[in-house]
Amino acid sequence: MAYENEMKVEFDSRSCNEGFIRVAVSAFMTQLNPTLEEVADVKTAVSEAVTNCIVHAYDGRIEKIIVSCQIQGRTLYLSVTDHGCGISDVKKAMEPLFTTKPDMERSGMGFAFMEAFMDEVHVESVPGQGTTVFMRKEIGWSRPLH
Ligand code: ATP
Ligand code: MG
Repeated sequence: MAYENEMKVEFDSRSCNEGFIRVAVSAFMTQLNPTLEEVADVKTAVSEAVTNCIVHAYDGRIEKIIVSCQIQGRTLYLSVTDHGCGISDVKKAMEPLFTTKPDMERSGMGFAFMEAFMDEVHVESVPGQGTTVFMRKEIGWSRPLH
């Protein structure tokens, strides 16, 4: 599919890069003339997906995370990819309150937040190879595009 506009960034799985990727994605989506609430929703969803790469996929090792964004009309597509441990049971992992790290202040709500704040969340994962979280959100239906 040919998109109107696209960006892709690759960065190290360090927590200090979470602020960077939140800002990068919000800056990219401003062309859709979003509300502050829409920007906050997307930032939260990106943070949750990126935190999962840092904490679960790479378990603290420093490897690469790839975030890409595409815009088509008023739709924002977002994907977050790691080449980490993968998820053996995606359906179960996405259940609210499910976590494999209950001892580490994890509440198991990351996927639930992504689903609440985005219109669609889809996960593809291969154990031992990595995971991509695909998300979609329609932006600014109530206002004209500039
Ligand atoms: P919280 O996000 O509330 O801190 P959590 O990260 O455990 O807790 P979710 O974000 O919903 O909760 O993820 C659920 C589970 O899915 C995780 O505990 C982990 O086992 C698995 N998981 C999520 N993302 C990845 C990933 N990128 N790679 C490997 N496993 C993952
Ligand atoms: Mg999480």
